[in-house]
Amino acid sequence: MNETTTDYRQKLIGISKQAYGRAKAKFGLFSGLYGQIQNLAFIYGDVLPKLWGVSGLLLARYLPDRFQGEICQTLVFFFGFNILSTVLSLPVSYYNTFVLEEKFGFNKQTLKLWITDMLKGQMLGVVLGAPIITGVLKIVQKFDTSFYYYLWLFGVFLQVFAITIYPIAILPLFNKLSPLQPGELKTGVEKLAEKLNFPLSELHVIDGSKRSAHSNAYFYGLPWKKHIVIYDTLIEKTEAEEVVAVLGHELGHWSLSHTTKLFGIAQFHMFYIFALFSVFVNNKSLYQSFGFVNQQPIMIGFLLFSDALAPMDAVVKLLMNILSRKFEFEADEFAQKLGYSDKLASSLLKLQIQNLSTMDADPLYASYHYSHPILTERLAALGWKGGKVTSSKEEDSETPVKAADREL
Ligand code: ZN
Repeated sequence: MNETTTDYRQKLIGISKQAYGRAKAKFGLFSGLYGQIQNLAFIYGDVLPKLWGVSGLLLARYLPDRFQGEICQTLVFFFGFNILSTVLSLPVSYYNTFVLEEKFGFNKQTLKLWITDMLKGQMLGVVLGAPIITGVLKIVQKFDTSFYYYLWLFGVFLQVFAITIYPIAILPLFNKLSPLQPGELKTGVEKLAEKLNFPLSELHVIDGSKRSAHSNAYFYGLPWKKHIVIYDTLIEKTEAEEVVAVLGHELGHWSLSHTTKLFGIAQFHMFYIFALFSVFVNNKSLYQSFGFVNQQPIMIGFLLFSDALAPMDAVVKLLMNILSRKFEFEADEFAQKLGYSDKLASSLLKLQIQNLSTMDADPLYASYHYSHPILTERLAALGWKGGKVTSSKEEDSETPVKAADREL
């Protein structure tokens, strides 16, 4: 056994304490409870009807007649509601970033960046939210009970629009993308893309290290023009060949049409939600039960309806995670067939260690909550026999890398 292997073994043993996973689970429990209490307080305190009433009063008092009516009142309500929920979520978000992530060395954000991110998010909410809400309400008002079909078309259009404008208009507000410098990694990725006929138009590096030690690689774009984005943290922490192996897995998702299938499922999901909503939208007793005696605002109907839908969401989550784990195995197998078995295994191991990810999980818990199979299952499927995991960069690294945001 060589020294590197011993080193990894020791690290794996250290991680078996699973302190980070436990801290995250505890935090999840408390933040969930906090959200639940908030929801109950909103219901028992009649917060929605009160906020709706105040929105109407503000409109009547400060804006001319042509700005009256349900659409304008909904916009004022929506922005008020948005500010209220953001303010309420601040303590949880602050704790997560500056206490929990900080403690385990993952946080790279400054307080200033955290605040500007939040303000930018609010601004985006106003700029994008206003036309979307106006469009939705107009469709529901115009098409009566058959609105769900048109609403669905509007939703599909919005998603395609979002895919198109996200890299140009939204991503640059938060991150800087720069072209990947020529070298072993660039050549490797380009060769891989060519081999698979992947329509690669640009190859970027994103400054993920600005916020956290999270690392990742992903692709996006329309079917004929794709971009690959690699986190600077991933490049820093793994070898070029391992990054290419990770992309072998990612492009496996593309080649096996996983992204298209998920897009299709999302459209079906959206369609049945809107179709069900069309049954609920005129249900007087739903509104009355929550303090809306004389009015039935569409937006409120949708908020109440989504709460009623929550138990069904649990089933959807379970099914989607089962499917997602299947896709992960398939993408691993794809990378394996390309000959990246060893490099993928070693990069998975490195990321797992640097991320302090949970090494083992209760099968029932994992089957509901995990979108990715646990490491041991993936390594076994890759046929990894144990052995040498080499790294020249690992030894001098102090900063852990985390891939929890969107794993490989
Ligand atoms: Zn994957």
